[in-house]
Amino acid sequence: MAKVRVLMVEDDPMQAKLIQGLLERAGQGRFEMQHVLRLDEAIPRLVSHDFDAVLLDLTLPDSEGLATFERMYAAAGEIPVVVLTGVDDLTLAAKAVEEGAHDYLVKGKIDGDRLVRALHFAVKRTLAEQQEWNSQMLHLAQQQFLKAAQIMGLDANLRERLLFPQRTLVVTLPFRRDDYKQVETVFGYRVQHVLTMGPTKGGIRYHEDVSLGEVSALAMWMTWKCALMRLPFGGAKGGVRIDPTHLTGHELQRLTRRFTTEIIDMIGPDKDIPAPDMGTDERVMAWLMDTYSQQVGYTVPTVVTGKPVVLGGSLGRREATGRGLVYLIEEAANAMKMPLKGATAIVQGFGNVGSNAAKFLEEAGVKLVGVSDVTTGLYNPKGLSVSALLAYLAEHRSMMGYPDAEAVSNQQLLELPCDILAPCAMQNQITGGNAEKLQCRLLAEGANGPTTLEADEILQERGIFVLPDVLGNAGGVTVSYFEWVQGTQNYTWSLEEINSRLRKIMVDAFHRTSTLATRDRLDFRTAALIGGIERVAEAKLKRGLFP
Ligand code: NAD
Repeated sequence: MAKVRVLMVEDDPMQAKLIQGLLERAGQGRFEMQHVLRLDEAIPRLVSHDFDAVLLDLTLPDSEGLATFERMYAAAGEIPVVVLTGVDDLTLAAKAVEEGAHDYLVKGKIDGDRLVRALHFAVKRTLAEQQEWNSQMLHLAQQQFLKAAQIMGLDANLRERLLFPQRTLVVTLPFRRDDYKQVETVFGYRVQHVLTMGPTKGGIRYHEDVSLGEVSALAMWMTWKCALMRLPFGGAKGGVRIDPTHLTGHELQRLTRRFTTEIIDMIGPDKDIPAPDMGTDERVMAWLMDTYSQQVGYTVPTVVTGKPVVLGGSLGRREATGRGLVYLIEEAANAMKMPLKGATAIVQGFGNVGSNAAKFLEEAGVKLVGVSDVTTGLYNPKGLSVSALLAYLAEHRSMMGYPDAEAVSNQQLLELPCDILAPCAMQNQITGGNAEKLQCRLLAEGANGPTTLEADEILQERGIFVLPDVLGNAGGVTVSYFEWVQGTQNYTWSLEEINSRLRKIMVDAFHRTSTLATRDRLDFRTAALIGGIERVAEAKLKRGLFP
């Protein structure tokens, strides 16, 4: 979890020490504070460092009263300022709030919870006000789309129409922690990008960086992915801006049930069908389905996919994204004339997608030499055992301290030598800064948006084969589609049936993409995107314009 970086400007050393102590105790390691005594020290530091919030005493040796706030406010730009004030100066503090301060805290009455809350809320509000659409990921998704649209000569009306999602819903919801002391307000989203092709489909992500822009980017990629795989869905995505790794089961359940209630009008088995994504899993889908079913008055298993098998989930759904990625790696390796037996692989992220990709790579005879989770990377050129890693993770909840490997950072991990590199965690991992240093032959994207446009160009120049996300991780939504079909038919397929249908669809999409890439001399990502966009464009034109 990224720390909240706070600059405290306070000339009274006793006060400063007190506040620092409170934040250390109540902040549970989530804050990082720097302290200065004067305004003329604070302003240059604000410019040269990256802060998320400022705690500002209004009476300083080199500035007094409202002028202190005004000078700091001008220098802080988008960074929120929380004022520290004495009981005698409350009118002044209220005036500072009128002029743009986010809050004020009265010295002598500050406790840890109040301090943490004021800082958190200031940061949250700033993010909500300034960054909902301002997302690097949305920028990437839109640039990729525009590049593909340019190359394929997409109609200008459609280009404009598809650049933003058709429907977005932003909700705020109250969330109570187990200790009952705090009720937080958290932000949640559901976005439907294209409603032309049937119901919309896409996962729900719980992560501290989730924003409207990020969810919209993910929804857009879902549209191209479903169209490329020829599934009867448009793209959607949802999420809640929260770090789920520190939540108890009860907290996660309460959060999920309230979030479901808030978005209930937008979802439904014929409207929009959620599934798991980062930070959510089968359990979360079961609670979502139960909440929806309670509200409509009867059981509706088809409102979600990726639920437990006993509730109508599909066999093979849990492993589907990782399995599908490995089916494609087999095809790509074949095209590259690279034998998989004895090849080496590094997998970033060891959650649903990463751990299953690693498992199926191991089964295909590939030697896994590196893996990671959010806490650490692990490297062992002699090979890592997936079952031993899973057992360690089950016991310790993180990979930190795993004995049979060298610990490396997530960034170092990407640059280590291997034949296959599979980013299966976060977006924005392979950038202009490290694309030159990659030592793999095949980049197989399990995560959404792991590679920037700049990196794409470098990889292409370097002859590294890229299996792009819209193709690489489409196994998940494909088996989700199977789950939905089985649910609507009240019929169950065997695992063999599911895996063979999955392989057929994945391999077919790979060869269609490959044919297009060869014919039009395109990189694989652009070819895959064009494959998806062409189908959406055709459907839009066939349906015509209303009214
Ligand atoms: P998950 O929550 O199950 O696992 C995420 C993994 O990434 C964990 O091991 C976590 O520790 C690690 N991680 C988190 N932040 C990291 C960081 N900054 N650096 C390195 N590692 C980090 O999530 P998941 O469902 O496996 O999803 C992973 C990616 O795959 C996401 O981009 C998601 O959108 C994409 N995806 C998932 C599915 C699916 O079916 N679950 C389908 C298609 C695409």
